Amino acid sequence: MKPNKQVTKALAEQSKKKVPANVVLKTYKRILGYVKRHWVFFIIGIIGTILSAGIDAGLTWSLKPLLDKGFIDHNQQFISLLPFMVLAAFFLRGFASFLSGFFIQSVGRNVVMQLRKEIFDKLLLLPSRYYDKSTTGEILSKLIYNVDQVSAASASSLIMVVRESFFIIGLLIVMFSISWRLSSLFFLVAPFIAITASYSSSKMRRYGRRLQNGMGDLTQIAEEAISGYKVIRTFGGGEYERDKFYSLVKHNRRREMQLIATNQLASPIVQLIVSVIIAITIYMSITSVGTITAGGFASILAAMLAIIKPLKNITNVNNVIQRGVVGAEGIFELLDKPEEIDQGKHTIDRVKGLVEYRQVNFAYDEKEKTVLHDINLLVEPRQTVAIVGKSGGGKTTLVSLLPRFYDNYQGEILIDSVNVKDFTLENLRHQFALVSQHVTLFNDTVAKNIAYGKATDVSLAEITAAAKTAHALEFIKDLPDGFDTIIGEGGVLLSGGQRQRLALARAVLKNAPILILDEATSALDSESELYIQDAMQRLMKDRTTLVIAHRLSTIENADKIIVVEQGRIVEVGTHKELLKLGKHYAKLYHMQFKEKNFLKPEDIQATPAYET
Ligand code: ADP
Ligand code: MG
Repeated sequence: MKPNKQVTKALAEQSKKKVPANVVLKTYKRILGYVKRHWVFFIIGIIGTILSAGIDAGLTWSLKPLLDKGFIDHNQQFISLLPFMVLAAFFLRGFASFLSGFFIQSVGRNVVMQLRKEIFDKLLLLPSRYYDKSTTGEILSKLIYNVDQVSAASASSLIMVVRESFFIIGLLIVMFSISWRLSSLFFLVAPFIAITASYSSSKMRRYGRRLQNGMGDLTQIAEEAISGYKVIRTFGGGEYERDKFYSLVKHNRRREMQLIATNQLASPIVQLIVSVIIAITIYMSITSVGTITAGGFASILAAMLAIIKPLKNITNVNNVIQRGVVGAEGIFELLDKPEEIDQGKHTIDRVKGLVEYRQVNFAYDEKEKTVLHDINLLVEPRQTVAIVGKSGGGKTTLVSLLPRFYDNYQGEILIDSVNVKDFTLENLRHQFALVSQHVTLFNDTVAKNIAYGKATDVSLAEITAAAKTAHALEFIKDLPDGFDTIIGEGGVLLSGGQRQRLALARAVLKNAPILILDEATSALDSESELYIQDAMQRLMKDRTTLVIAHRLSTIENADKIIVVEQGRIVEVGTHKELLKLGKHYAKLYHMQFKEKNFLKPEDIQATPAYET
């Protein structure tokens, strides 16, 4: 199947799910809950809005005295007051519309800020599982795109709804005060207008939701194309990415056009309906002269013409509100996701570092295969345990249970004989320093990256000492601004080895009692590996260390080596013991030893025992 078809199909499936009316109502109520917090501003804004709508309706009505008293009767007193009345009316109108625009928009921006804060807070508390399953694009588009939709629905559209409905009410009062007979014609067609509006709004909502889903995918593909530009170019993936992106953009444009078409069709239909009454009014007023003055006629006609625009706007505003509701659904869905379970009470300043796995079985999801089988492991305080095995065996999974990145496992994991689930999450994670293969660096200075997560009161001397231990000082000194050098997004301005050394320095500074090194030396040249090995040795001293090693030469001195294969611990022992045993570990070891000494084809044949 071609990629664009795949994307389109997935999108179509996404947008099929229909949200029932009561959910829409609930969502809207929840949006209003955010608005309610700023009720003072909100009320000022609403008063301004109503005032400005009333003034506009009053101006239509003023045509009647203007014509009857001014042009026809030449009432001197009225004429001399007229300029002042015009000035006063427009001054008031300007003031009212400022109140309306300023205060309601301010409520809208506050809602945006609040939602962004809540989303971000939530992101800090969501379990690893959520991140495994969602794309960055999805999350980012909620934070950026959906939030603005909600603001539009809660602020600008609200101004419009209030303004236009009061304007309509005002105009109706004007109309009825002049001639109730002509005006009641209006009510004959009102149902048709309502039907058109509600039909178009339900369509609008559906298209809006599709559009929104599309935005998430769009962001995702763009994000991948940006962060993965090197892979894309070297592997010639440009065409593929372009296809994906173009088909999405095309898809989005189609959705947008559907939205626009529905929108644009709805207003002329409404106008057409209204034009029918206007035609009748003109005819009736002229044929039954005497019941209505010239000014009254001008006024009622002006009101009827004026009422079209707010009616049209109100049908339009639905579109904005619908989009807002859809946007809010996405946000609330995220905000309602369960957070990491944090019910433990136990805290301790510094654990001794006794780590125990008791009969642990784990699958990432109920439906997925079991990744860890019957894991039993005991690590004494200050011991170093190396975990080795083929990739995909479950090594990373095994260590990631310890800081409770996942906690839906069976069995027990204990630190200092306390179940990890009994610790508070914060205190538990306080006990670990984690260095993994994928070093996370922030677009900040070298010093801030090393001192990451520490309170600001870390001295430069401490940072320097940590950098020295991790053999990072050598290259930091050569950076243009030393410790104050900004290292770019993800540390792109540094080499792999340098990044890894910064990560180690961060771990040194944290000085946690338990250290987890997950392939911290993979993919490094031998020189930096030498440095890092030395750094690691220093780091491992005096703390419990779980080290997952790709290169077995780095772990020969470990107190205990465990071999994990297909989620099971198949061997435990020291380097010497396991070599003597001549099974899994020995095979792995000899394999690598040969690799190092330039593997020849006949060597592969000579070690048939190692199957891949
Ligand atoms: P190792 O670190 O030994 O290479 P992992 O622990 O990363 O192995 O992976 C063990 C198994 O768990 C693999 O089959 C892998 O596909 C699966 N796995 C790893 N991470 C996840 C995840 N986040 N969600 C689902 N399955 C995963
Ligand atoms: Mg791994």
